[in-house]
Amino acid sequence: MMFNKKNTDPVCGMTLEGKNFLRVEYNGTEYYFCSPNCIEKFNMEPSKYKNWPF
Ligand SMILES: [Zn+2]
Repeated sequence: MMFNKKNTDPVCGMTLEGKNFLRVEYNGTEYYFCSPNCIEKFNMEPSKYKNWPF
């Protein structure tokens, strides 16, 4: 597993390096989340986050 700037939760902005995180693939891009709660927010409005990392 590589860590880079994409290992930041796009919903809450938390850096996930060295922590447990959840991975979601959407439109061929991987996103990382700190909790199912943030995944829920992402799923409600994925277009808001599709250009991550900005
Ligand atoms: Zn989060």
